[in-house]
Amino acid sequence: MQFESVIGLEVHAQLKTKTKIFCNCSTLFGASPNTHTCAVCLGLPGVLPVLNKKVVEFAMRMAIATNCKIGRKSMWARKNYFYPDLPKGYQISQYEMPIAEFGHVDIEIDNYSKRIGITRIHMEEDAGKLVHDQKRQISFVDLNRAGVPLIEIVSEPDIRTPEEAGAYLRQLRSIVCYIGICDGNLEEGSFRCDANISIRPTGDEKLGTRTELKNLNSFRHVEKALHYEINRQKEVVAGGGRIIQQTRLWDPLKNRTLPMRSKEEAHDYRYFPDPDLLPLVIDEDWIAEVESSLPELPNKKKERFITQYKLPSYDAGVLTSSRELADYFEECVQTFPNPKQVSNWIMGSLLGLLNAENISIEASPISAHHFAQLLELIDKDIISGKIAKTVFEEMAKSGKSPKQIVEEKGLIQLTDKCAIEKIVLNILDQCPQEVEDYKNGKIKLFGFFVGQVMKKTKGKANPQLVNEILNKKLMA
Ligand code: ADP
Ligand code: MG
Ligand code: ZN
Repeated sequence: MQFESVIGLEVHAQLKTKTKIFCNCSTLFGASPNTHTCAVCLGLPGVLPVLNKKVVEFAMRMAIATNCKIGRKSMWARKNYFYPDLPKGYQISQYEMPIAEFGHVDIEIDNYSKRIGITRIHMEEDAGKLVHDQKRQISFVDLNRAGVPLIEIVSEPDIRTPEEAGAYLRQLRSIVCYIGICDGNLEEGSFRCDANISIRPTGDEKLGTRTELKNLNSFRHVEKALHYEINRQKEVVAGGGRIIQQTRLWDPLKNRTLPMRSKEEAHDYRYFPDPDLLPLVIDEDWIAEVESSLPELPNKKKERFITQYKLPSYDAGVLTSSRELADYFEECVQTFPNPKQVSNWIMGSLLGLLNAENISIEASPISAHHFAQLLELIDKDIISGKIAKTVFEEMAKSGKSPKQIVEEKGLIQLTDKCAIEKIVLNILDQCPQEVEDYKNGKIKLFGFFVGQVMKKTKGKANPQLVNEILNKKLMA
């Protein structure tokens, strides 16, 4: 029997507000444990939560960016469970009436595109963090994160493969970064994902029993864990077994998932409306205001790059993967209006450099203006493409303008025909044997002569002229 996999993702995005969702403690990451806390986020008795308006605005931004319908009225709910990182014994979340529902995002895989439904987006507070000391066998509680705002984005079970899951996650991450509500950092946990997965006989309508995978803190882990889990479930079924609904933990060292606990049901959480918070009412004016403040979104920008700059879809996808990279590209094109050339150099050299050094485009040691100047120098034949690589490396190191580097190091391309001719004749003189071999048919030696000229001119000779002149002289 053929099986297909069915995947639905729950994504938590930590919102970049200055203060927490129900108190005015700072949300800054990395402070000394328990220094960003107060009576409210410590869950002391008798305190009341006060909603941070910015959190609602950020959730609305995401709702609009993912084509959701924003509920005019939504409710806060208490999700009750016991864990040491949750001082109140409940998490304030949204349950029955979330802020937004019925959305979608479009994703693109190698050769097809697909719409993934978004079931709902809701707001909630984060819990604290446990820090385990393996040596002493004790654990510490850090409540700095308690009360940091999150949105949870729940997808429909529309995803069919680990690759689609990866594309969907990248798309969501790109959107939250574009609209400036989350820094999208999987490693630091400001963008987290749980994956629900089941299998069913291909063609079946009914969903199979799912498992929920946790501890997926990189895109690669998500895809690997899903691959592993699909195979595991298929093997269980092939062996006559039955999938049990459970939560499983991804072990990145052993590349497998392990059972963590049986999956809890909603009723285990004893959800009920939070009596301390009024229903949240959002009017049309506010929605319109937020909508008009949104920037151009990744998919739109990509389409525009394809039509406006005549770029291949692949290039447009890479260049619009972050708003800052897209801005960088557009700034370059303003100075040097050859989009494909700019794209080639950004994807080939610049991104290579940034990835190797693990720097973001915002921190690029080479400004867009200098980058475009470099391409101009090549275009005007002032330097060769080969020398440009050297100049590029120097720009990365020193941050100097390409013009300054070319002048200081005397790298200007040699385009003087007479000068090149002199050098060519000189080399042919010094290599009579090779010249003879060449004339007897060993035409591979042409490259050798080119190499000699380049060596002599420290790479500065215009390659086209060298070829031309060498050809002429060797024919003679
Ligand atoms: P919970 O909060 O208990 O995890 P939800 O019903 O809200 O539950 O579902 C969470 C996610 O699981 C959603 O993304 C949904 O699409 C997905 N999902 C639900 N049932 C299945 C299933 N049988 N197989 C795969 N994914 C599923
Ligand atoms: Mg879940
Ligand atoms: Zn607080």
